[in-house]
Amino acid sequence: MEDILQMNDIVKEFAGCTALDHVNFSMKKGETVAIIGPSGSGKSTLLRCINCLERITSGSITLNGDTFAETKNGQRAAYLPDKALKNICAETGMIFQHFNLFPHMTCLENVCYAPVKVKKQSKADAQKRGRQLLDMVGLAHKEDAYPAQLSGGQKQRAAIARGLAMNPEIMLFDEPTSALDPEITGEVLNVMRKLSTAHTTMVIVTHEMGFAKEVADRVIFMDAGRIVEEGTAEEIFQNPKSSRLKEFLSSVL
Ligand code: ADP
Ligand code: MG
Repeated sequence: MEDILQMNDIVKEFAGCTALDHVNFSMKKGETVAIIGPSGSGKSTLLRCINCLERITSGSITLNGDTFAETKNGQRAAYLPDKALKNICAETGMIFQHFNLFPHMTCLENVCYAPVKVKKQSKADAQKRGRQLLDMVGLAHKEDAYPAQLSGGQKQRAAIARGLAMNPEIMLFDEPTSALDPEITGEVLNVMRKLSTAHTTMVIVTHEMGFAKEVADRVIFMDAGRIVEEGTAEEIFQNPKSSRLKEFLSSVL
């Protein structure tokens, strides 16, 4: 199957720090990829480069056939013009640790906002689909609730419904359960498990090793801005090769 995402030789520098150090990463449609690794290893930066929250220093990124950033002749990576970029980046949906719902909008308004504003869907169509998605994440009864009236797990499920409402090619999850109490991480993981089973293309940065082991088609271990090891869940968790991964696993498992 064809790659839906290709990231070639990605370097991302911040002042005084190389967050991504020649990373090659690609995904196939329908794949669930888990990214694990210590704090500061570049996991969030990798996701943020995919959906243009950060601009790469050099390398190239092709999403769904469109190369939107690339380096030519050793220069800094050039990006497509803003308008084209906006459309391409709408093909990814990002779920953050801290939900980032619009606080002044109800659940349903949060879910319908971008489809109406960016995709120019009619309000009626957006609401119809929005209600289906809220139902899918178990929040049909909360469509008129404001974020402040929701528990953390409910907020995160609403955020997932909002991300899906744009019908993105790829869903990006950046530690979606890290801000939740342990007893409610399960309800968010259940929604993600459902998406993975339905072959939603997704990248999940997570500290939930059990979950990664269970749902990931492929696991990537990052350290110091590099992909140090990748393989099936079994290869990574049962048979780690590098000393860095062995060390990391013994510290978290
Ligand atoms: P992770 O998500 O794996 O914890 P990050 O991608 O957040 O790691 O960070 C990778 C490295 O890049 C870290 O050293 C971090 O301090 C640095 N970094 C991330 N974002 C910025 C930024 N906006 N400005 C400067 N340095 C940053
Ligand atoms: Mg991070």
